[in-house]
Amino acid sequence: MPLFAKSEEILKRNQRSIPGGVVSTNRAVDPPIVFERGEGAWMWDADGNRYLDYHAAFGPYVLGHNDPYVNEAVLRVLQDKASLFGSGTTELEGKLAQLICDSVPFVEAVQLLNTGSEATYQAIRLARAATGRKHILKPQGGYHGWHNDVAFNLMTPLSQLGDRRVADEYPRIPISAGIPEEHQSLVHAINFNDLASVEAMCERYPVAALIVEPILQNIGVVHPREGYLQGLRALADKHGFVLIFDEVKTGFRHALGGYSTLSGVRPDLVVYGKAIANGFPISALAGKRSLMNLFVDADSTRRVLLAGTYNGHPVPVAAAIATMERLAEDDGEVYRHLDRLGKRVQAGMEEIFRSVGITAHIARQGSAFCPYFMDHLPKDWHDLAQHHDFDFDLRLRRELLDHEVYFFQLAVKQCSLSAAHTDADVDFTLESVKSALKSVLTVAS
Ligand code: PLP
Repeated sequence: MPLFAKSEEILKRNQRSIPGGVVSTNRAVDPPIVFERGEGAWMWDADGNRYLDYHAAFGPYVLGHNDPYVNEAVLRVLQDKASLFGSGTTELEGKLAQLICDSVPFVEAVQLLNTGSEATYQAIRLARAATGRKHILKPQGGYHGWHNDVAFNLMTPLSQLGDRRVADEYPRIPISAGIPEEHQSLVHAINFNDLASVEAMCERYPVAALIVEPILQNIGVVHPREGYLQGLRALADKHGFVLIFDEVKTGFRHALGGYSTLSGVRPDLVVYGKAIANGFPISALAGKRSLMNLFVDADSTRRVLLAGTYNGHPVPVAAAIATMERLAEDDGEVYRHLDRLGKRVQAGMEEIFRSVGITAHIARQGSAFCPYFMDHLPKDWHDLAQHHDFDFDLRLRRELLDHEVYFFQLAVKQCSLSAAHTDADVDFTLESVKSALKSVLTVAS
């Protein structure tokens, strides 16, 4: 194991003023590595160890750390004395909104916010205002941010969840204290890849919206089964709820138009974040003009409040424009590169596990992948929680640190390639997986 003396010292010092020492509690993992520098596909920690990065800070780094083109655009707006004026509009924010409209066929209007959580919050509020209903559906195993409408049923232990019974409701399991009962009663967890569970909830409650990652990426990579997203579209039309695709993680990572364009299914609203600005803080809420116009409805009793001191800050806006320009270069060469490397990692890892008799499947969508130690690809959280070997997964991730590869230190967390990863990096990764696996198996035997 590399030495983490300086990391431990910094964490201890930070704990004096920051509860837990971290500013987002899901960053508190063991070992408590303090990273200092990131360039391209690599990161360096306070003790001088280096790591090939597959965490990508929970997804934003589609181009790699400190991409020179994006950084240059940011430096340029600062040199030009662009600033936050908080009054009226700017040419830059209009340019970004138009770029999003031009990239995604079903998007008719856009608003800019700062984080994914803010954007999913606003999407749900729009849906409630449009439908006059209160109830929200979200999948077990999906993550949509930290707020009261969605902070439920993520990696829920099966002991709390019980058997999967379509007609019965899942127990509602908050992932935070402090959510009032009244709020909790309006949120219902459905089963991913299971249209009957949505239908059952629609018969029971007046549903304002279903919010869903079109491909689950907060429990690895769980694909929608054939026809599932089309089925959700049909159910939204039948029952009159607003279909919200949460593409905060999948949006610009999988295609310029997001996973929606790959699937051909059009949600009513879509939310982007993370990869849209390659690490700079911005999110976007987009979709049908009829819904988005509620932000400016002439009738004040129908109007939805949209406010944010930092909305459209020129630094992340410039970063997003530059990121989208890079992603559009050469008719999507970045995506072809990511997919090619993703295929190599997937095939290479599958071969390594097969060669030593370990049962494993690598789920993958383009640059995002996740090893599952089970005999099939998971179709939902229940399936995964029942069959995946969580202990082995974590032991392998730990061991990989010794071999200069950083997979997030939590089982079933998705790994992400960036455009800065090279074929040589993939070779390095596969060698590291081989060596790490050998050590894990030696210790086990
Ligand atoms: N939606 C999805 C799918 C996410 O993965 C995340 C964050 O991981 C969010 C929403 C919340 O975004 P943020 O952390 O920017 O608030």
